[in-house]
Amino acid sequence: MDHKTVIPYSTQSICIHDISAVVKALVSPFITTGPRVPMFEITLADIVRAKHGVAMNSATSALHAACSALGVTKGDLVWTTPISFVASANCALYCGADVDFVDIDPLTLNMCPKALEAKINASERKPKVIIPVHMAGFPADMKAIHRIARSNKIAIIEDASHALGARIGTDPVGNCKYSDITVFSFHPVKMITTGEGGMATTNCKDLADHMKAFRSHGIVKDPSWQPWQYEQRNLGMNYRMTDIAASLGLSQLRKLEDFCGKRYDLSMRYCMNLEGKFGRQHRLPNTQPSHHLHIIRVRKEAQSDMFAHMYKHGITVQLHYKPIYLQPYYRGLGFKPGLCPNAEAYYEEAMSLPVYPDLSYSKQNRVIETLERFQ
Ligand SMILES: *Cc1c(COP(=O)(O)O)cnc(C)c1O
Repeated sequence: MDHKTVIPYSTQSICIHDISAVVKALVSPFITTGPRVPMFEITLADIVRAKHGVAMNSATSALHAACSALGVTKGDLVWTTPISFVASANCALYCGADVDFVDIDPLTLNMCPKALEAKINASERKPKVIIPVHMAGFPADMKAIHRIARSNKIAIIEDASHALGARIGTDPVGNCKYSDITVFSFHPVKMITTGEGGMATTNCKDLADHMKAFRSHGIVKDPSWQPWQYEQRNLGMNYRMTDIAASLGLSQLRKLEDFCGKRYDLSMRYCMNLEGKFGRQHRLPNTQPSHHLHIIRVRKEAQSDMFAHMYKHGITVQLHYKPIYLQPYYRGLGFKPGLCPNAEAYYEEAMSLPVYPDLSYSKQNRVIETLERFQ
């Protein structure tokens, strides 16, 4: 590695306002669920135009809570896309359900509606829930997926871990126009951060109430009861978000538009400079991606050498993702290569370039020049 600073593929952007917001929370009477958690929920739900927001300690927890709220249990089937983080599939297994995968569209890298329809028609066992993912913040074809799911009575959870700030037409991802529940992640590499954190949005009060109970042991309280009374009605978890995390989330949300603008700008600079040299992800017409990742496609023969070349020059590019079912754990469940050919072909060519709000043009130029120097 040369002696220049390492450029990560992504990192958080923390300013003085974030720091003072967290300090204020720390010296307040509440550091776990206090006033800032519901404030963060209301503010984010308002931004994405959903009726309810349920904050949790991660998107993984929110996906688990969402599956539980939709009644996913032993004997059920959940389908997701193989090109995602493992959490998109693990959530079904947490509920005792089985999971399977629908191949991607090779251009958008999202769950392919045609493949979904064909798989439904070819399967005796239908999924109870499908979990499309807005890969890299590029919205999936939710209109088509929703139409197919509705005519087969399948519920939808949108995994929007990458997609806070993205839009489908004028609809913000998260308004649940095409889904039952949408889930966001606030891991430091995502669009905004709370350290660790996640949120589920929904327009259905029953689903929101279930998730609120689920994140706190399955316990419910009623305003008409005495303040010391509570009942555990279901088996839940401790998935609560702290007020410390929510204070950071509230402060970060104020910068969401700015973050999206910077990521868009950086993505456009990559596109202009690398046009014709590498394949790229395509957005659907009338959608606005959040540009969480900038993925290029390289020649598969050169992929591992290119990763090594970038790392040698201090640029820690990433591979999003190996198809989930090729992970050893999933292989152990019986999944085999060949299940989703588009996903497997993509995996052999993918490379995520650095994109984050504080990435300077000069550092981005270093990324571009290092890529171009690869022979
Ligand atoms: C990051 C991520 C998750 C999990 O998010 P956490 O907040 O880290 O639990 C789930 N799905 C996708 C697509 C992700 O990128």
